Amino acid sequence: MKKLTLKDVLGSVNSFLLFFLTVGFIVSCCMMLFVSILADTMELTLTTDNIATAAKVTFGNVVLITFLFKFADYIRRKIMVERPTKIITEATEKIMSGDFSVRIPPMQNSGMEGFNQIAMAINQMAEELGSVETLRTDFIANVSHEMKTPLAVMQNYGTLLQAPDLSDEKRIEYAKGVTDSSRRMADMMTNILKLNRLENQQIYPQVSEFDLGEQLCECLLQYENVWEKAAIDIETDIAEDVKVKADAELLGHVWNNLFSNAFKFTPSGGTVTVSLSATEHHAVVKVRDTGCGMTPQVGAHIFEKFYQGDTSHSVQGNGLGLALVKRVIDIMQGEIGVESAVGVGTTFTVKIRRT
Ligand code: ADP
Repeated sequence: MKKLTLKDVLGSVNSFLLFFLTVGFIVSCCMMLFVSILADTMELTLTTDNIATAAKVTFGNVVLITFLFKFADYIRRKIMVERPTKIITEATEKIMSGDFSVRIPPMQNSGMEGFNQIAMAINQMAEELGSVETLRTDFIANVSHEMKTPLAVMQNYGTLLQAPDLSDEKRIEYAKGVTDSSRRMADMMTNILKLNRLENQQIYPQVSEFDLGEQLCECLLQYENVWEKAAIDIETDIAEDVKVKADAELLGHVWNNLFSNAFKFTPSGGTVTVSLSATEHHAVVKVRDTGCGMTPQVGAHIFEKFYQGDTSHSVQGNGLGLALVKRVIDIMQGEIGVESAVGVGTTFTVKIRRT
């Protein structure tokens, strides 16, 4: 807050004096005019002395009364204006310096509704900024944590690779370890960048009309090696000729993430079913698996960034896939839901608009 200087104080005293004297002078003149009209009407004779004394007394009285009112107003301003202003200013200064925990208590005096509204808005702003800050620090902590693991693996394999008499078999195994870890880091970075661009709306949907069934089949076929290796059965029930107007690339991210999760969380001998049905305005895609499933507690968090329910699969993921899926579906104003039971399987249902 600005400090009061002598110049400010003298300025205020000057303006106070000017105010009292002006009011005193004007009111005295009015009184004299009134008295002189009254004297004329009632045919009273007033001497110059009478008038001079009355003028002085009136002037003195008016100065005194205005002073008293001004003083009362000064106290009122101190309590009703300056004190809340000071509290609000101090709170905003704390927020500016990065302390988002500050909250302004409600002001009880009547006539403070305006200040209370400002205080409530500032409290809400501090709360929002606080949660953004928590998200930011969580995000940094998560990224650092997720990077540390593959980096440590790479370092270990790097050290092992330095051994002089390494068999070809070991050398290939260690080199593969380095490649896998670096691929995992690259995947994570790609996902972070995609998510960041999606969240900042730097990706504007490139809408075109395409056959959704064909897109689903193409995406699914990319996992042929995976399902054959894991002996997972594939079932499809894809309605024909379901055209949608959407961003094919963004939607491709959705199917890829759902399929890769279905294969990742389904053990050998399980089944992954993909179905597509459509109404006039909507298309509904279901990706069902007979995998490990998840508890309701896990299900409640799966769309959060970096959330991994089953950490035993953490080597193959980074918890960003479904956050990305959710963001894309939100951008497309669609819906995504999940039904899951531990040991039975999981079904993701995506509903998007066709036009
Ligand atoms: P990631 O797969 O990289 O761990 P995701 O964001 O794709 O990250 O998924 C978040 C979490 O949701 C997973 O860690 C897992 O616990 C749960 N999950 C997602 N899909 C399935 C599924 N099909 N079956 C069981 N759990 C799943």
